Amino acid sequence: MSAHYVIVGAGIHGLSTAWHLARELRASGRGDGRDILIIDKTGVGAGASGIACGVIRNNYFQPAMRELMAHSVSIWESDPAGFSYHPVGYLQISHEAMRDDVASIHDQQKAIGYRSTFVEGAGASRTYLRSIFDDWRAENITSVLHEGQGGYANNLASLEGLRSRTEAEGVRLVPGATQEDFVRDASGAVTAVVTDRGRIACEQVVVATGPWVRRQWAMLDLPAVTRVLGPDGTHHEAATWTYWALQEGTLRVDPGFLVDNDGNMPPVVHVDTDAPLCDERGLVTDEPWGLYYKPDFHFGGVQGGCVPDRVERPASDVAVDPYGPASPDFSVGNEFHRTFAAALAFCQKRFEGKASLMSREPSGGIGCFTPDSFPVFDTFADNVYFIADSNHGYKMIGVGALVARELMGRRQALLEPFRYSRYAEGRLHPVSNSPFPWS
Ligand SMILES: Cc1cc2nc3c(=O)[nH]c(=O)nc-3n(C[C@H](O)[C@H](O)[C@H](O)COP(=O)(O)OP(=O)(O)OC[C@H]3O[C@@H](n4cnc5c(N)ncnc54)[C@H](O)[C@@H]3O)c2cc1C
Repeated sequence: MSAHYVIVGAGIHGLSTAWHLARELRASGRGDGRDILIIDKTGVGAGASGIACGVIRNNYFQPAMRELMAHSVSIWESDPAGFSYHPVGYLQISHEAMRDDVASIHDQQKAIGYRSTFVEGAGASRTYLRSIFDDWRAENITSVLHEGQGGYANNLASLEGLRSRTEAEGVRLVPGATQEDFVRDASGAVTAVVTDRGRIACEQVVVATGPWVRRQWAMLDLPAVTRVLGPDGTHHEAATWTYWALQEGTLRVDPGFLVDNDGNMPPVVHVDTDAPLCDERGLVTDEPWGLYYKPDFHFGGVQGGCVPDRVERPASDVAVDPYGPASPDFSVGNEFHRTFAAALAFCQKRFEGKASLMSREPSGGIGCFTPDSFPVFDTFADNVYFIADSNHGYKMIGVGALVARELMGRRQALLEPFRYSRYAEGRLHPVSNSPFPWS
């Protein structure tokens, strides 16, 4: 078998890249979707994209992330029904330590024409939030960033929207084919992808394997440890790939239980605070904590998550199969259920006494992160393009469009800040005061 382009992985990035690349090829007269083959060891949505909470926001402290996100949001907005996208907006509700960071996010959103409102001060924040939810009561909140764009999308439905677009362009999709190795020529470029169903000769590979990315990285003998030039001018070494267990779950109430004061679907709510969190059993935590949630008919309740847990197991072990037999170790447990339910009740009175409604179904999942927790979009071994989004990239549906242009030979300014060389050269993204590794 052969194909000019082989894409490994049928998640949000593999599918989006295939769709946009097929359109680029057709428009340029240099080919069409039949030149592209996607393989997936399982099938569409078998990885992180198929379990993602689906939040789409622009609330990033890093200017390069914000511009990238504005581009992706424009793609979500181009066909809300086709991508099962709900443009309900997004609330970043913060405690004092984050106020300046979020103020600067708002300023820079204004500068790029991204619609948002910023409210400052404890009283003004409470009044603003009560105008949305009359039972709002979270403590230690001194700012609110309300993004008028963004919201959330339904994970598998949006992938289905992308899959049907790729098929309409003639792209071939082969589920049940696991990529096991690369064949390389004397220069190091890849000439074929080896799968458990045979070899596929190719000119260009795109690796979009989400939390499994370390495997393809190792197959190309790329470094397990990355040299990073820090702001103090000295180098240090960091593991190239680390893993976090995303803590997510669903409170089994009717999703209509969480409408706004006008009876409409509310914005996605994200809260970060340093107020102690308690429930009827006592103190849950006195560390700064965070929570995000939304009513979701797809998940069947009020769904969301808390700050993820760092996975301390060796990267080589986790990378074998993040969602395989070992993954029960990483499923969320009682501690998460307690925290999520307490945090909901901390924010809104309507959730008081509802902890017993937390779903006990397995939920959450493993994410693979880079040394600075921001994406790496770059080419290695001459012709292997890695899309490694550091596990906050379901929202980044537009990255595939930008990668497709780069594969056509047009470098994209929006992707430049995400090259791997930034670590050695010290071109790092600014670090925020958020407790989440991806903000
Ligand atoms: C619980 C959870 C919640 C999340 N919530 C959000 C959110 O709200 N918003 C957000 O923006 N991001 C979120 N993320 C992150 C987001 O889901 C990922 O960043 C994104 O989906 C990664 O997409 P991908 O296409 O790179 O990889 P994936 O969706 O993981 O797809 C990779 C595919 O590659 C296939 N594959 C792997 N290895 C091989 C191989 N050797 N051969 C062939 N196929 C292979 C897999 O079967 C899989 O289908 C969340 C992640 C998790 C785990």
